[in-house]
Amino acid sequence: MTVNPTLPQLLKTHFGFDQFRPHQQEIINEVVNGNDVLAIMPTGGGKSICYQLPAIYMEGTAVVISPLIALMKDQVDALRANGIDAAYLNSSQDEYIQQETLSKFKNQTLTLLYIAPESLALIESYFSLITISLFAIDETHCISSWGHDFRPAYTQLSRLKIHHPHIPVIALTATADRTTQQDILEQLSIPKAVKYVSSFDRANIFLEVRPARNRIKSILDFLQNHVDENGIVYCLSRKSTEKIAQKLNDNGYSAAAYHAGLNAETRNNLQENFSRDHIKIMVATIAFGMGIDKSNVRWVIHYNLPKNIEGYYQEIGRSGRDGLPAHALLFYSLGDLIQLRTFIDHGANQEVQYAKLERMQHYAEALSCRRKVLLSYFDEHYPSDCGYCDVCEHPPAYFDGTLIAQKICSAIARLKEKEAMGVVIDVLRGAENATIYENNYQRVKTYGVAKDIAWKDLQQYFIQLLNQGILNINFKEHARIELTSLAKEILFKGKQVKLAILAKENVVRTNQKQE
Ligand code: ADP
Ligand code: ZN
Repeated sequence: MTVNPTLPQLLKTHFGFDQFRPHQQEIINEVVNGNDVLAIMPTGGGKSICYQLPAIYMEGTAVVISPLIALMKDQVDALRANGIDAAYLNSSQDEYIQQETLSKFKNQTLTLLYIAPESLALIESYFSLITISLFAIDETHCISSWGHDFRPAYTQLSRLKIHHPHIPVIALTATADRTTQQDILEQLSIPKAVKYVSSFDRANIFLEVRPARNRIKSILDFLQNHVDENGIVYCLSRKSTEKIAQKLNDNGYSAAAYHAGLNAETRNNLQENFSRDHIKIMVATIAFGMGIDKSNVRWVIHYNLPKNIEGYYQEIGRSGRDGLPAHALLFYSLGDLIQLRTFIDHGANQEVQYAKLERMQHYAEALSCRRKVLLSYFDEHYPSDCGYCDVCEHPPAYFDGTLIAQKICSAIARLKEKEAMGVVIDVLRGAENATIYENNYQRVKTYGVAKDIAWKDLQQYFIQLLNQGILNINFKEHARIELTSLAKEILFKGKQVKLAILAKENVVRTNQKQE
């Protein structure tokens, strides 16, 4: 790609930075050349520049769709401080301020206009009358009802590209697995968008899972080694946030409870106090988080199991933004797992939600490096074990599982990656049931090649292969199992695989009694 020489200059003069971060320059180049982009970068990765700089470089006004009213103001203030004409529109503003902003927009004096998706109708009729440089859609994962921050107004945004095909769309998010990425491209009508995915690795966060036994005591022990640090405890229910905050206070810690049942003013106060270090520990439901811009959160504890890995990764990502060591501790219990299953709605997404919860369970029960599990979920294949998680520190006993892995991968390949785990295992074990005969799977070459391995054990090996990023579950299509590039190395290049020995203590970690 040809690099536009003025872009680094603009980065320096307007933002004071000497260099682009990974992917920023490529993304900016695409946008200024009129192409659609999907940019997936971790929080703090520098997404804003990716549309702010094109907005400055290109003619006209950039329309930035953002779901967070609080953040809009901060962004606009920061831009104005850099001498850039930016403004925002949302429903919380006074009428006359809205009018003033609108007339600036109409007169084309703005470089960037931030707007909530719900307010878009206010300005839409002008898009064909004035020059719009680009549409930026921030937190674009809100479009996906498969995901966790669903915002209905986001699903109406395809009209931007449909009505204005020549204006480039840049969609940005810090969290989107493969399913969500596909959804974003479809729903925004940008099928040809160029996709940039930055590494999601947050190498400074130590990953740990403990059984949910005596959780309070376990937290108090943990805190002894984290005196005076800022942290977040995430819980499933409002009631438990209050109960735990109370217990921490009783033990001399500065903690407060935060959940959606509190009024907006109280929540703002709490958030403010947390960001100013007046409250050290926030015990919160997942209502606390989107938009927290605090760099020195040193740890995140999950008192309960989260319902999927995207949410979990985003929540632990709120720690260690300054790059200094941070700690993510997850308590895991079968009780939580059962409760979360009962929460899953009986809707179209039910199967997907079960499958995602199952991947969360796999993470919690992982017998290989946990960072590999997390990153493989985002399609990133970590080359080696991280050395900075509890499994790496205390690994189980492994054996050479190359042959088993080859059998499993080869069965999946012969089933054309069309089947879910259960059917693949049945084929490997030579089962004699309706699905097998209806599909003639008894003729598949790998039929029965793993007869000697118990069903449950094969299932455990499968999970290990998923966790190592060798296999992938396609959530949107009946949880069918796909082979990743690593699987191809195993099948065709003799890549070795190590599997954990299925000793009782390795597998049954889950069946710990809850407090
Ligand atoms: P995101 O939206 O991805 O969470 P931001 O756009 O808020 O991240 O950027 C995170 C921080 O990184 C900001 O303080 C921003 O000023 C800084 N930043 C962005 N790009 C660069 C760069 N090229 N060089 C140095 N700092 C940068
Ligand atoms: Zn590890």
